[in-house]
Amino acid sequence: MTKEIISVNPFSKEEIASYKSHSVREVKRKIEAGHIAFKNWRSVSLEERCELVRKLGLHLKTDKESLATLAVAEMGKPYSQAISEVEKCAWLCEHYADKAAEYLKSEVIKTYASESWVAYEPLGLILAVMPWNFPYWQVMRFAVPTLLAGNTGILKHASNVPGCSEALEELFTKAGFPEDVFSQVRISGSRVKEIIDHPHVKAASLTGSERAGKSIAETAGKQLKKCLLELGGSNAFIVLADADLSEIMETAVLARTQNNGQSCIAAKRFIVEHSIYEKFKVELTKRFKDLSVGDPMKEETDIGPLARVDLAEELEEQMNRSIEAGAELLMGGKREGAIFHPTILDRVKPGMAAFDEETFGPLATITKVDSAEQAIELANQSRFGLGATICSTDIKKAKKLALLIEDGAVFINELVKSDPRLPFGGTKISGYGRELGPLGIKEFVNAKTYYVK
Ligand code: NAP
Repeated sequence: MTKEIISVNPFSKEEIASYKSHSVREVKRKIEAGHIAFKNWRSVSLEERCELVRKLGLHLKTDKESLATLAVAEMGKPYSQAISEVEKCAWLCEHYADKAAEYLKSEVIKTYASESWVAYEPLGLILAVMPWNFPYWQVMRFAVPTLLAGNTGILKHASNVPGCSEALEELFTKAGFPEDVFSQVRISGSRVKEIIDHPHVKAASLTGSERAGKSIAETAGKQLKKCLLELGGSNAFIVLADADLSEIMETAVLARTQNNGQSCIAAKRFIVEHSIYEKFKVELTKRFKDLSVGDPMKEETDIGPLARVDLAEELEEQMNRSIEAGAELLMGGKREGAIFHPTILDRVKPGMAAFDEETFGPLATITKVDSAEQAIELANQSRFGLGATICSTDIKKAKKLALLIEDGAVFINELVKSDPRLPFGGTKISGYGRELGPLGIKEFVNAKTYYVK
C-alpha cells in the first residue's frame, strides 16, 4: 500500500492536504520517462531552452502571490520573504537565459592537433533531493542550469512541502517544457536509493542535512555516480573592534533571523572583539526584542513558526544543552509549539551545542575574543565550512583576514547570501560542488575533449 504524504500548516496546525506516495512501479515509470525525454531534449537548441526558461521566469512572476501563500502555509516563512524568494527565482531564470551560451561555450585549446577543444555536453537524467527551507529557490537553482545544459531532472522534494513540489512541476509544464523534462516524485527520504541505483539516473544533487548527505554520497559512491552536496552551515559573523555598528547591526539581525532563522548560510555564531563586545551585545538584544513573532501571513511579522514542531523541539534541546554547559541566556528561550522566540546566548564556546552544531532557528550566540586572529581561529574551529562574514571599516585588513577563512565564501560587511551570478557551496561537512554562476551550470556536464589530427 502506498503511504500518504501530509502537509500541515505549522502555524495553524491544520492539515493542508494529503497525497499518495508514488509506488516503486510509478517511480520507475517516471525515471524511464525522464530518460526518454532526455534523448529529445538534448538536441533542442540552447536558444529554445533559454526561451523556455524565460517563460518560466514570467510564470513565476505572474504566480508569485499564490506560490508565496502556499510556501507560507507549508513551512511558515513570513509572506514578504516568500514573495522575495519567488522573485529571486525569476531573476535566476533571467540570469541563466542571458548567460547560458557564454557559460557553456566550447573552449578551444591549442595543442599539436589541427583542432582541439572542450565541449560541455549533458549527462542525462539528474536527481535532485531538496529541502523545505527555500522550497522554490533550492529547486530552481538546481533545475534551471541543469536543464539548460541539456539534462533532464527528477525532483524528490522534502516531505513537508508536497504542494510546493507539485506547483513547481506545474510551472515547468505551463512554461511549455516538453513532458518529463522536469518531473517530481513523492517518496520519503528513505527511498532515495531506489532512484540513485537506477541505471538511467546519471547523477544526484542534494541540498539538506549532514545525515542525508552521508546517505546519498554512500549510495552514489557505490554506483560510482557523481553527487553534489549542499549541506548545513554554522557561519561565523565576525565583528572586529573597528566595525561600524550603525552600519552593520541591521545586517547582523537579518543574517540570523531571516527565514525564521532556518537558513544554511545564517549567521549562527557572532564572534566579537572584546572592545566592541558590550556595545554589540546591547544593540543585538535591543533589536531582537523589537522583532515581531506570530502569524507569517501578517505584514508586521518578522518571525513565524519553525517549519515543524519537532524542529523547534530540537532547537530547544540544543539551547538547553548549551546553557547546561555554561552559556548565558540573555533573552528569549521560550517555545510554544513550532514558535521559537528570538533568543540570544552569550559566553558561547567550542564544546557547546550552539557552537559545534547547526542551530536552525532564531537563536543567536555571542562569543567574545581578544583579537582578530582569535576570531579567525574560532571561525575555522567548526566542522562546517559554508561561509563567513567579517565586519570592519578597514577593508584591506578584512580582505587579508578573509584569506585565512576555510569556508566556501567570505562576505565583508555583508551577510552571506546567494546570488545567481556567484558560485555557491561549501567546504568540510558543508558539502562539495558549486551551484549558481558559471560553475553551477557545469556541475552536471561531460567536459568532452575533441581532437582532430
Ligand atoms: P534533510 O532532513 O536532510 O532533508 C533534505 C532532503 O533530504 C529531503 O528531501 C529529505 O526527504 C531528504 N532526506 C532525508 N534523509 C535522507 C536520507 N537518509 N537519504 C536520502 N534523502 C534523505 O534536511 P532538512 O531538514 O529538510 O533541511 C535543512 C538542512 O538543509 C539544514 O542542514 C540546512 O543547513 C541544509 N541546507 C543547505 C543548503 C546549502 O545550500 N548548503 C541550503 C538549504 C538548506 P524527507 O523530507 O522525505 O525526509
